[in-house]
Amino acid sequence: MNQEIYCSVSSCHYWDSGNHCKANKIFVVSDDLGVQEPDTYDVMQASTAPQTPTNNCMETCCKTFVLKGKPEVKVDGAYKQS
Ligand code: SF4
Repeated sequence: MNQEIYCSVSSCHYWDSGNHCKANKIFVVSDDLGVQEPDTYDVMQASTAPQTPTNNCMETCCKTFVLKGKPEVKVDGAYKQS
């Protein structure tokens, strides 16, 4: 599957110029779940995670976000594509 994901969160490790997300996978969850779960809860759990319906985009978050330079880059199960 060849998809393009655009994202303006330039402080993220996976962000690249042109507002491209270079993560090989991302996991989007509800804000409520995103707050509850640690950084290790990410793409590795995505296919078996419970559904988290929301009412609007403001209630969703990218769980794969990790601040550039942080060690959590290694625990989320995603990698940055070249
Ligand atoms: S991992 Fe999420 S927050 Fe980071 S660049 Fe991709 S879409 Fe944006």
